[in-house]
Amino acid sequence: MTSIDTADLKRMFDEIAVAIEADKDRLCQLDGVIGDADHGIAMGLGFGAVRDALASLELAATEPTALLNTAAKSFLNAVGASSGPLYATAFMRGAAAVKGKATLASADVIALFQAMAQGIQDRGKAKIGEKTMVDAWLPAAEAAAVAHASGKTLSESLAAGLEAAERGAEATKDMIAAKGRSSRLGERSLGHIDPGAASAVTVIGAMRKSLG
Ligand code: ADP
Ligand code: MG
Repeated sequence: MTSIDTADLKRMFDEIAVAIEADKDRLCQLDGVIGDADHGIAMGLGFGAVRDALASLELAATEPTALLNTAAKSFLNAVGASSGPLYATAFMRGAAAVKGKATLASADVIALFQAMAQGIQDRGKAKIGEKTMVDAWLPAAEAAAVAHASGKTLSESLAAGLEAAERGAEATKDMIAAKGRSSRLGERSLGHIDPGAASAVTVIGAMRKSLG
């Protein structure tokens, strides 16, 4: 049976930080087309700060909730762009979803994933189709939950989530931005992938690799 502990979650954040760092230039380029070209930098700063903050935690004495709240605080402090409060809320909601648990079973990881996606949506108030990271996060969490409910393993469920995130990010190409900086472009945002949806795929991919 799956059992994810605080050390596993720290490794997951380390994996995300590496993946985002490797993807930084592409994310800045995507943001350069419909935004202000800083998305890769913002995400790199955020997950770099999380990695540094988690490195100084006494893992054996820390529950998943405390680790996720530390991640939220350090991400928020490091990132001035709109992705800052969005991901900070994701981690805070994730923390609340696994409160009181020393280790996470598969169902808890799925609940964590769903709480993160819901937190992003609640914080930014973006709906599906408005060309934001929500277009990747929400279908990903939904697909992972559906797969898990139908008896798939955590690994298979996260893989289903990643596929849905990829499809969702790709679909933002055909959307007109209605939230955030790129909404000022209106129809000129058509034809381009949303940078926040693209980075969501990278984050979810690293989560799958690390937890699955
Ligand atoms: P900024 O736009 O402040 O420069 P970033 O470049 O870090 O921030 O992030 C831009 C991404 O943030 C967008 O591509 C989009 O996915 C996401 N985003 C912006 N506003 C919202 C919102 N209200 N809800 C969800 N996601 C949003
Ligand atoms: Mg930007």
